[in-house]
Amino acid sequence: MEKFDFFKTCKKCKDEECCREPYYAFVAENEIERIRNKIKELKLKISDKSEDFIDIEVVYYEDEPLKFKVIKKINKDCIFLENRRYCRINEVKPFDCKIWPLTYDYFPKENKLVIYLGDCPLTKKMPKSWIESTIEEIKKELKKRTKEELISYSILDRDETLKIIKEIPNFL
Ligand code: SF4
Ligand code: SF4
Repeated sequence: MEKFDFFKTCKKCKDEECCREPYYAFVAENEIERIRNKIKELKLKISDKSEDFIDIEVVYYEDEPLKFKVIKKINKDCIFLENRRYCRINEVKPFDCKIWPLTYDYFPKENKLVIYLGDCPLTKKMPKSWIESTIEEIKKELKKRTKEELISYSILDRDETLKIIKEIPNFL
């Protein structure tokens, strides 16, 4: 993925919701270990009550419960958020945090991947080449996920301001 400096723009942003409710920071299985290692390296304290950084959420797809993992929140904020705009685990943050303001849905019945661009001041600053290389990364990364992870993430409520920028049929 091409490098792009988010924080210059984020620091000035007035948005109140990034990295906090109502959004989840979804964590895929293949990301857990490197986040745990970073927590150890930085000697981060998660909370007084728990040493684990993960919460389990459940969504229903065709009446079946699907579990997925998210980063814990304290007082509505992601536990890794510092000073409203800084991520304490920036180098190893979950893929879904890295790709924002791009995001996606996987539609299992159509086997289709849809890529969206979020409504965020970064969208005006980021080079087209970053968007293109990130779409390629998304395609590569999602093929490593379990179907349960893909579906559970995709049936979470979506912000209505998301704009479709690409549809990829026959994804898996
Ligand atoms: S809305 Fe965009 S610019 Fe604002 S904090 Fe979130 S990611 Fe950064
Ligand atoms: S891991 Fe970092 S980027 Fe992701 S929601 Fe938490 S603070 Fe934000």
